[in-house]
Amino acid sequence: VKFTQWDSEQVLRFRQQVQKGLQDWGIAVSPELIDRCTVYAEVMLATNAHLNLTAITDPDGVAEKHFVDSLSPLLLNLSDAPISVIDVGTGAGFPGLPLSLIRPQWRVTLLDSLQKRCRFLSETTERLGLTNVQVLHGRAEDSARNLLLRDKYSIVFSRAVARLPVLLELCLPFVTLGGSFIALKGPDGPAEVEEAKTALRLLGGELEQVKSIALPLSGDRRTLIIVRKQKPTNAAYPRKAGIPNRKPLL
Ligand code: SAM
Repeated sequence: VKFTQWDSEQVLRFRQQVQKGLQDWGIAVSPELIDRCTVYAEVMLATNAHLNLTAITDPDGVAEKHFVDSLSPLLLNLSDAPISVIDVGTGAGFPGLPLSLIRPQWRVTLLDSLQKRCRFLSETTERLGLTNVQVLHGRAEDSARNLLLRDKYSIVFSRAVARLPVLLELCLPFVTLGGSFIALKGPDGPAEVEEAKTALRLLGGELEQVKSIALPLSGDRRTLIIVRKQKPTNAAYPRKAGIPNRKPLL
């Protein structure tokens, strides 16, 4: 765990890189949005001294690998309507928190199983004055069985939580019928899709799109996997906490 505080030059660099990266993708951002990203990044780095939140602490890395990457789903023409979305295994808030900043009309739920990360997220959303974000502490396997949460989200997002067969079991139960699950993956995303055929069938999902993208500043490869919930997910899923990981639907 590493404490980092940016000097004014690094703050400026962070701001420029977020702006430049999003501009390259044709995503327009206001100075106010960049202000909020900056506050969020600085609080994250300060909290990193006593809570393991991120291994990436340099301005370029945080700008591109956390903020710009989190906003990559905007390359898919996402809804502008006041929909409900959830980020499963949000950690320090990625991708859900940056998405909530750029889509203030969305109701965004951030779910994580680690209480301390949830406390950080609550403090940060309060600090940013966000009224469209709800922080939820729990395991996806348990929360997805809560009838107030199951089948309730038009879009479910998840990044860096599990391989696709496992992730589908944790995430599809939250999706409304006809809604989407969007997995933010690295360069090996397409191989994970091959692994996930059985899970898709058992959980009621249909592969809609696999979009390969390059991050605008480093050129690093990413994959967006979009799955439509075509049928209701059987009540047997998700299985009890820990089982999806131990016995993936292969
Ligand atoms: N999504 C963030 C990102 O991309 O930076 C965090 C990724 S971190 C590697 C994985 C996070 O998922 C951790 O914060 C962990 O607590 C959470 N997590 C793992 N399994 C989970 C589960 N079954 N339910 C809820 N959260 C889970």
